[in-house]
Amino acid sequence: MAENILVLTPAPIDSPAPDRSTLVEMLRDERFIGEPITIGDEEHFRPGEEFMMLITFLGCSPMIATGEMESEGEQYCHIAIDGPLESPRYLIGDNIKPPRCPGCGHRLDKWRLLLDAWQCSPNAPVTCPDCGEAGSITALRWRKCAGFGRLFIKIWGVFENEAVPSPNLLSSLKQSSGTDWIHFYIRNN
Ligand SMILES: [Zn+2]
Repeated sequence: MAENILVLTPAPIDSPAPDRSTLVEMLRDERFIGEPITIGDEEHFRPGEEFMMLITFLGCSPMIATGEMESEGEQYCHIAIDGPLESPRYLIGDNIKPPRCPGCGHRLDKWRLLLDAWQCSPNAPVTCPDCGEAGSITALRWRKCAGFGRLFIKIWGVFENEAVPSPNLLSSLKQSSGTDWIHFYIRNN
C-alpha cells in the first residue's frame, strides 16, 4: 500500500533525543494524538481532536481520512513515534531527490553512496566537487525529502508539501524537548 508521511524530527542531529513518554504525554495533552491503535506490532495513534488545528493544510481541501485503514487506503491518517534510536539514522522514501550543495547548489547525484558512507562514519564530511565546501551530509539541501535523527514523529496520510506543522505544534515540541524541530516528507509507492 502506498504511504504518504509527514515526518517531524529534532533539528540539530547531535541534540539529545527527546524522552518518548514525555513526548507522547505532551502530544496527548495537546490533543494532537488520540487513542492508541496497534499496527503490525507497533503502537500508533489516531489523530486527536486538535490534530487539524496543529497541522496547517496548504490546499483548500485537505485530503485526510481519519477512519479505518481498510476503507480509506493510503489516505488513512495515523501517527507513530519512532525512537529514540541508539544512533542517528536517515529516513528517505521513493520521493527522494538528489541533494544540493548548500554553498553553490551543485547537485550531488551520488547521494546513495554518501548516505551509505555516512551510516559507517557519521562524522566524515562531504566535500562538494564543484566549490570544495565540506560539511556534514545533514547540512546538504535535501529539499524536505530526507531527514536524519534519532527520533521521528511520523504522520501517515499527509501528501508531500500539502501540509506543514503549525507554529503552535512546533513551539510545543520545542518546549517539551528543548530543541527546534524540522519536517520533511516521505512517499513510498
Ligand atoms: Zn558546492
